[in-house]
Amino acid sequence: MIRDIIRYPNPILRKKCKAIKKVDPHIQKLIDDLIETMHVAPGVGLAAPQVGENLRVIVVDIGEGAFAVVNPKTKKKNRILQTFEEGCLCLPGIVGPVERASQVTVEGLDRQGQKLIIEAEGFLATVLQHEIDHLDGIVFLDRVKDKALIREVSKKEEIEKKELL
Ligand code: ZN
Repeated sequence: MIRDIIRYPNPILRKKCKAIKKVDPHIQKLIDDLIETMHVAPGVGLAAPQVGENLRVIVVDIGEGAFAVVNPKTKKKNRILQTFEEGCLCLPGIVGPVERASQVTVEGLDRQGQKLIIEAEGFLATVLQHEIDHLDGIVFLDRVKDKALIREVSKKEEIEKKELL
C-alpha cells in the first residue's frame, strides 16, 4: 500500500523513534509499504517516520535492489568525509550539500528478523546515514553547514538527480 509522505516541519519528523521488539507480520507489512512508497515517490531511501510511523525501520534502494533494516545501528564510521547534495521526500523542492562519513558499517535485522550487517561506502553510506538520522529526529537541513548552499530544484531535476532520500 502506498502511504502518504509527511512534510517538514511536521513534528513527527523531530521525534526519536522506538525500537522494534519483534519483526512480526505488522512490521513486515510496514516494510512492504515503505518499499512501495519509496519506489513510487521515487526515492532511494525511506524511513518509517516519513510516513508517520514512530518506529526504527528504514528501507533503501539505490538501484541494486530494495532492502530493509530494522533497528539499524551504526557500528563503524570512517573519518574520511564525502559530500553529496542531498534532498528529502519530506522537503520537496530543495537540496543542499551534506558532509558524512564515506564508509559505515550498519547492523540491524532484515525483513525476516535475521541479523544483517551492511558495509557501505560512497552513495549507499550517505543514504544509510540520512535514513538513520530520520529515526533520531534529524533532517538533512540540520547537517548543511553553509545554509547559503541550500538551493531550490524543479521536480524534473529532482527526479533526474535521484538523490531523494
Ligand atoms: Zn529524508
